[in-house]
Amino acid sequence: MNGTTARSMAPDPSRGAAGGQREGDPEPAQSLARCHKVARTYGSGAAASVALQNVSCCVRAGDRIAATGPSGSGKSTLLHLLAGLDTPTAGTVTWPALGPRSSLRPGPVAVVFQAPSLLAPLNVAENVALPLLLAGVDEGDAGQRASEALATLGLEGLGTKLPEELSGGQAQRVVVARALASRPRLLLADEPTGQLDHANGALVIDALLAAAAADGAALVITTHDERVADRLAQRWRLDDGRLVTGATLECLA
Ligand code: ADP
Ligand code: MG
Repeated sequence: MNGTTARSMAPDPSRGAAGGQREGDPEPAQSLARCHKVARTYGSGAAASVALQNVSCCVRAGDRIAATGPSGSGKSTLLHLLAGLDTPTAGTVTWPALGPRSSLRPGPVAVVFQAPSLLAPLNVAENVALPLLLAGVDEGDAGQRASEALATLGLEGLGTKLPEELSGGQAQRVVVARALASRPRLLLADEPTGQLDHANGALVIDALLAAAAADGAALVITTHDERVADRLAQRWRLDDGRLVTGATLECLA
């Protein structure tokens, strides 16, 4: 990315340059998302399946977190809770710096899933603009923001292509552009490279890092691929529903 893409809107002063600290703010860095003693159990009785137990963690501005662990360890469950897509069966998930769960999407939280999810009849630029239009942004602004997001990720040449004309890696990068267009403060990606070969996966991680940098967003990526995890500065390790290493807990005090 070139990092010079202009933003048509003035910067949000509440964001801070790095780390989310504001003048006079007693907190060193307020959490964007915070899990406190969270559990998530599916089903009940003999059929109950414990996906997460006693998980406490927080995501702060500037974080670049790889949430790793084997299949079934609870990565997707944790990401869905952080996104406000699901609710815990015990404990609490809060978004101290972002607002109530109902305000997160579309809004300050954007989610990228494993399978690209572009709408086949719409071209790339229309796909990227669509969530903004649905959120009430006027057509001109939505188009402008879609072009900016595509340009930030070096995808400006793809705007008029249909999803069926894209490779899997290109489609997933367009999904990242769609997330970026909503200017998230927290960008969550669940196994975003899971269906891609290593080279295309690396490009998608490049895109996610570029999107997070462009918008000053925190980034959490779930993966079981060590090469993906190594691209991120911080590591959470999940094992059998427990967060066994890596969570920064000072924000939970
Ligand atoms: P991961 O993303 O690390 O592969 P998940 O969070 O998807 O792990 O799943 C954690 C555990 O919860 C697994 O044992 C899985 O089978 C179970 N689980 C996940 N979703 C459901 C569901 N909707 N119903 C029942 N069990 C589920
Ligand atoms: Mg998963």
